Amino acid sequence: IRSPKELAELAEDFNHMTERLEESFNQIRKSEDEKKTMIAQLSHDIKTPVTSIRSQIEAILDGMVDDEERPVYLESIQNQAMRLSQLTDELLEVTTTQENKKHKPVVRKVWIDKILVAALNSFQVQIKTEKRDIQIELKGKTPFIYTDEEGMNRILHNIIANALKYSDPGTPIKIQEKENDHFIQISVQDFGVGVPEKEQKHIFERFYRVEKSRNQKYGGTGLGLFISLEIAEKLGGNITVRSKSGEGSTFTVSLPKRVKE
Ligand code: ADP
Repeated sequence: IRSPKELAELAEDFNHMTERLEESFNQIRKSEDEKKTMIAQLSHDIKTPVTSIRSQIEAILDGMVDDEERPVYLESIQNQAMRLSQLTDELLEVTTTQENKKHKPVVRKVWIDKILVAALNSFQVQIKTEKRDIQIELKGKTPFIYTDEEGMNRILHNIIANALKYSDPGTPIKIQEKENDHFIQISVQDFGVGVPEKEQKHIFERFYRVEKSRNQKYGGTGLGLFISLEIAEKLGGNITVRSKSGEGSTFTVSLPKRVKE
């Protein structure tokens, strides 16, 4: 038989344990809730390109699109399809564990001017309707690097998408390419809302978004930069940010001229 003191201690231990358990449950519940919100948001985001693809295909099938317009429609369909595949990747990111989503880099010769044009291509319509001035400056002497083209394209796509998303229509976007001995650097500068200094180290974290309320206006999951940095690091590179709240941001991607295999 235990003494009253021992029993009291035991009771206290139980209380502590219950508290700790409750805390963990709350945490799990909270992350589950976040996950659900994220999935709902992504499912919603997926509907937009699907609707757009369907209506454009219908227009073509109904003979509403003349020969001259057809390439524009097809390109737009292609861009929406690419957006869909990215959203699917994000959905996978939310729902699966790290192990299941490894994409093996395929290292090939990648022309810098071509990949920039390709990455910008999917924003053609947006750039036009928002009257954006896209300034490209290639300062490096190296015209191509050896890297994973799909990965590099995704990084550039995400960073350009953010530059457009977090700045006003009509403001320019500056893209600059430089190089040093072993790396090329591509920076994308916008003149938008910027990232407050204390948030800058967090924006590459999984699911992290600046000021939730503000971001409701923009939509998104907080995965784009996380995925981009993950790819950049896998390719032996890095992504950094320089920004001032209210003035704009510059995201710089550094990639080695030749990925070590
Ligand atoms: P998402 O845009 O889906 O929220 P990201 O991972 O791409 O996710 O970005 C994380 C956060 O970083 C964004 O929520 C946004 O607050 C901030 N951010 C990213 N790019 C920019 C930018 N160019 N200008 C201002 N804020 C940015």
